[in-house]
Amino acid sequence: MVFTRNREEIEKIRVSAQLVAMTLRELGRHVRPGITTAELDRIAESFIRDHGARPAFKGYRGFPASICPSVNEEVVHGIPGPRELREGDIIGIDVGVEKNGWYGDAALSFPVGEVSAEARRLLDVTRESLMRGIAQARAGNRVGDISNAVQSYVEAQGYSVVKALVGHGIGREMHEEPAVPNFGPAGRGPRLMTGLVLAIEPMVNTGGFEVVTRSDGWTVATKDGGLSAHFEHTVAVGPDGPEILSALPDQEN
Ligand code: MG
Repeated sequence: MVFTRNREEIEKIRVSAQLVAMTLRELGRHVRPGITTAELDRIAESFIRDHGARPAFKGYRGFPASICPSVNEEVVHGIPGPRELREGDIIGIDVGVEKNGWYGDAALSFPVGEVSAEARRLLDVTRESLMRGIAQARAGNRVGDISNAVQSYVEAQGYSVVKALVGHGIGREMHEEPAVPNFGPAGRGPRLMTGLVLAIEPMVNTGGFEVVTRSDGWTVATKDGGLSAHFEHTVAVGPDGPEILSALPDQEN
């Protein structure tokens, strides 16, 4: 079942998505060498609860924390813990919140101090692939137009897109239909309609696209150990084109 939302409902999703964006901005102020991923998780959970919302990931299918921090070769779904960030790391942080029964979901990848040119380029390419995917989130297009825009850009830059995990519809649940792959042919898949709200989330690897799930049952990492980055926005298909619900008014992306 694919839902479309009216303006009032989209504004409720926007409230949740804006809180996700504010949480990510707050976390970005704390990302530095020496901080642990558990400390980042505590900061995020307090911030979300102080704003009258609930961290959507906590307890989701048994997930134990409020954020998913994924460092270097980790792709997504990392579990917060005692690991200290080190100069030169990159960290993807995925945040979801539920407020008044509506969900928002977004992710950013951050450099930790000075990072390699390759890491910097991976962050730039992944962010740009998300923006190219979002640009296709228009009524009349199909999901495959988003998918293809992401994949074609990423592969032209010499990187690969993760295929085992995909974006999704979002609204009353964190994960709704349709699936939004980051790969595949243009012009295929479900038709995009005004009022559809999607979480678009490319995961991009410097090496191969294959991933493995670690024995903790959650952390997804690249099979070849190459670096991976993840950017995500909650996006509404609006009457005049895509509306990024999880970008702050003064945010560049
Ligand atoms: Mg998501």
